[in-house]
Formats: sequence, C-alpha cells, structure tokens
Amino acid sequence: MPNERCIHLCQPDAGKSCGACCGIYNYADSAPEVLRARLRRRTARFRGDVHRRDDLTAFARTIRLAEDQTRRFDGIYCCEYVGFLDPGERRVGCLLHPAQNGGVDLRGVSFYGRDLCDGHLCPSHQFLSLAEQTMLVEILDDWYLYGLCITDIDLVKGYFRHIGECIGGTPLPEMFRKGLAREIARRFFAYKIDWPFRSSERNRWGRFSFDGPRHLIRPIDYAAIGAGPSRYDGIFLSLCSLFRDREQLLLAEGLIRANIEAAAAACEGPS
Ligand code: SF4
Ligand code: SF4
Repeated sequence: MPNERCIHLCQPDAGKSCGACCGIYNYADSAPEVLRARLRRRTARFRGDVHRRDDLTAFARTIRLAEDQTRRFDGIYCCEYVGFLDPGERRVGCLLHPAQNGGVDLRGVSFYGRDLCDGHLCPSHQFLSLAEQTMLVEILDDWYLYGLCITDIDLVKGYFRHIGECIGGTPLPEMFRKGLAREIARRFFAYKIDWPFRSSERNRWGRFSFDGPRHLIRPIDYAAIGAGPSRYDGIFLSLCSLFRDREQLLLAEGLIRANIEAAAAACEGPS
C-alpha cells in the first residue's frame, strides 16, 4: 500500500522535479552537464518544431538521429520526450504532458503509452515514509541530484537511520528545513555525484551492475582487502563504491561517519 499521505515526489515544488523513470540517467554518459545540455537542446527543438500531434513522429526521429542513444542498461528505455518544463531549467519532466501543451495530452505516442506514463508511481512512493520523503524534498533543490536520491530508497533510509541512532530517535523534517543540518545533509547526498571512491565502470549504477539483460546487486568484497563488512555497507553500495585497499575503506568510513555525526549534532543543536 502506498503511504496514505504522500507528497508528489515527481514534481514536489517549483524548484525541482524527477525524471528518473523516463530514463534520463540511463544514457551511457549521464553526467550532470552532459544531461543538462541534452535536455536543453531537445526542449528547444520541441518548442520550435512541435506545433501539433502530427509533428511528433518527425521530432522523435530527429532526436534519435541527433543524440547519442547508447544506454547504460538496454532494459531501461530512454524516452525522447523528457525535457525542461520551465524556462529556468529547474524542473525536468514530460514535454507531452497536457500541462505543457495547452491541455492537450500527447503521451499516447510514447513508448510506454499514456496510461502507464500517467499512472506510474515508483517504489519510493510506497517505501519511503512521509518523513523521509519530506526531509529529502526539504534538503535538495536541484533536479539532477534530487532524481538520483529520491529513487535510492536504501540511501535515504540508511542515512536517516544512522542519524536516528546518533540522536536516539527518528529525525524530523523540521530539523532539515534550513540551517546547518540541511547543509550537512545536502553534502552527504551530493556524494551520489562526487563520491571519491566511486567505481568508474559504466555498467554500474548505484548498487546494481548490469550484464546484458540482467542486473545484479554487486556486493563489496571486504575480505579481498582484509576487512570485515562495514556498518555503512548499504550506503557504500548506493554510492557505487570500489575500494582498492583497507586504507581507502577506512577513509570512506571516516567521511560518512563525520557527516552523520555532524548532521546529528546539528539536529540536536539550535537551527
Ligand atoms: S522515478 Fe518516481 S519520483 Fe521520479 S518521476 Fe518516476 S515515479 Fe516520479
Ligand atoms: S512520454 Fe512517458 S516516459 Fe516519456 S517523458 Fe513523458 S512520462 Fe516520461
């Protein structure tokens, strides 16, 4: 059952949104600046070329020819109709949505079809608590990082659970609404982009490793570096970690521990 009270995770506010299930992170090169440039060009082309439904076939063909279609994982479709929804490029989403086309719903031409596109709710709606959803929405304010994190249930749950263990209770959304705790938490989630121990293998994504049509969870081989499982294993998996030796593991644990303890202290102190 989805949470009875949940927020609109796809478009939570005017400052950000998520396009993960439309495949934006599945391009082989989905680095922030590369993806931003792709969506910018595509949106401009859509606004310039699509004036009625009949224009969509030509638009889709042009996008497929003009853009690098190499995917990280063949089993996940990369939709050609995701773009920026606002002039400030703060929200990504569906260019075929009626809100983008004077009330006309064009999603029927898409790979998934109108009903799937309209009705899909990813597992984060169900498995993240309302408090976890709210905290993430409060903490993050850019679409790229928000989409990466709101879909990483284990990362979100793991982080707030560790903070909860430090403060002896469940973290509350008001602790992250502003101030130091918010800044520290934002630094933590930014590790999704700049984690220093991130594997460079293109077929890896968070905790998953793709092999043709299969995707597997790729465990960290602690024994190979002479260590036991880390208490931060879940976080390390989400961050796509690869440790060359035990020293790297200890450094990584130090970074995560320092962030969690600092966030916990900020939660307990004046905001
Ligand atoms: S991945 Fe989830 S939050 Fe993101 S757009 Fe899809 S359904 Fe919405
Ligand atoms: S058509 Fe469907 S998959 Fe494509 S951008 Fe719109 S909602 Fe996403």
